[in-house]
Amino acid sequence: MPELPEVEVVRRGLAGHILGAVLERVQVVDGRSVRRHEAGPVDFERLLTGQRIIDVARRGKYLWLLFEGNEEFALVIHLGMSGQVLLKNPELPAEKHLKVLIDLAGATDESGREAPLTLRFVDQRIFGGMFVSPLLPVHNAAGEPMPGASASALGLPLIPQAVAHIARDPLDPHFDFGQFRRTMLGTSTGIKKLLLDQSAISGVGNIYADEALWRARLHYAKPAKSIPASTARELVDAARTVMRDALAQGGTSFDALYVNVNGESGYFDRSLNAYGQAGQPCPRCLETGRTSLMVREPFGGRSSYRCPHCQRKPRGV
Ligand SMILES: [Zn+2]
Repeated sequence: MPELPEVEVVRRGLAGHILGAVLERVQVVDGRSVRRHEAGPVDFERLLTGQRIIDVARRGKYLWLLFEGNEEFALVIHLGMSGQVLLKNPELPAEKHLKVLIDLAGATDESGREAPLTLRFVDQRIFGGMFVSPLLPVHNAAGEPMPGASASALGLPLIPQAVAHIARDPLDPHFDFGQFRRTMLGTSTGIKKLLLDQSAISGVGNIYADEALWRARLHYAKPAKSIPASTARELVDAARTVMRDALAQGGTSFDALYVNVNGESGYFDRSLNAYGQAGQPCPRCLETGRTSLMVREPFGGRSSYRCPHCQRKPRGV
C-alpha cells in the first residue's frame, strides 16, 4: 500500500513531466475507478478534456492536478491500496488493470524534450480512484478551508474540497505540532490509532507508524494523552525522519504493486527497523548486547511490529 513518501515520489515524478501539458483526450476505461465523481464517467471526461496542467499538489496521500485559469475544480487522485499513476508512450499496450487513460499534449521526457505521453491510472484492487473536486480557498497558514467562500475569493490558495479534512503531514513545512499535541492530550485511545487518523496527522500509514513508534520507543497501544510532550516531539520527528529517508530512497516497495511513474520500485524496505521484522533481533537492543526478538501482533485487521523490550506494553492495556 503506498504511503506518503511513495505518493510524494509519484507527485515529483509527474511534476517533472506534465507541467504545462494539456489533457487532450480522457478515457474512463473502468467506471469503478471514477465512482467518487458523482456526475459519472462521461461528465468526468468532458470536464477534464482540454485542461492545461499548471501544478501537481499533494496533502497526505491525496494528489491533485491544478489547471490553468481554472479556480473551480481540481483532478484528485488517490492511489488506495494498489493504484499506480504511470506515464508511458501511447504506443505501449494497455496494462491489464488500466482504469483511466489520458493522452497528454506537450508533456516532456527525461531530457526535457516534448514527447507524446499518456497518463495511465492502473489499479488492480480498485480501492483508489480519480475524481473532480471543487476548489475551496484556504484562509490561514494551517491550510484550513474557509467555510462558505467562493473559490475565486481574494486570490487565496485553493484546496480541493475532498482533501480539506486531511491534516497536514509531518513533511509539510506548515505542519502544526501544537495542534497535534492538543489532539493527543484529548485522546485516550492508543497512539498508533491516532497516528493513522488522517484528520489528526496525515500520511502516516502502517509501515511508518511502526517505524516511528520504534524510534520513539513507544508501544502502539499506549494512550495518546499519557505520552509526555518530549516523547510526542520525538515521535513526530521520528515520523518525519523515517519518511524523509524513505523519500530519499524512492519509497518503500513492500507491495510489489507500488511503483513510481517510470514503473520502478523504491528500495526503502532494506532500511526498516521494525515493520516486517518479526523474529529479527531489535537493532537498538542488539547494540547494548541484548537479543530481543521483534514480534508481530494483530492490529486493526493488520499487524503491528514492536520490540518487547524497548516498546513495552503499558500497564492496564
Ligand atoms: Zn529493542
